[in-house]
Amino acid sequence: MNRIRNIEGMLPQPKGPFSDAEALELLMAYRKDPSNVPCPRCGPEQIEVLAFIEPEIDPNGFASVTYPEGEYAAALYCHSCCRAVGILAGATHEAED
Ligand SMILES: [Zn+2]
Repeated sequence: MNRIRNIEGMLPQPKGPFSDAEALELLMAYRKDPSNVPCPRCGPEQIEVLAFIEPEIDPNGFASVTYPEGEYAAALYCHSCCRAVGILAGATHEAED
């Protein structure tokens, strides 16, 4: 989950990451309905999509902001528990295994 750690620099002072299990929950919820992604800990209406970023982050940990088309990742932030996560939100052929 280096990917998540790498993008934290661009997020508003997250207090920590989501666990892998929580990140998966967020991913499933996002794919079902991007406008309704509840925080696994805090419930609905806390998560904000901060930015859409390139799914591949360069070796310097720099994530490029992109458009939510094709393959992209979404940077999610919970305003309640102040945690942030990047999920692969767009269509991708290298699905989670
Ligand atoms: Zn939360």
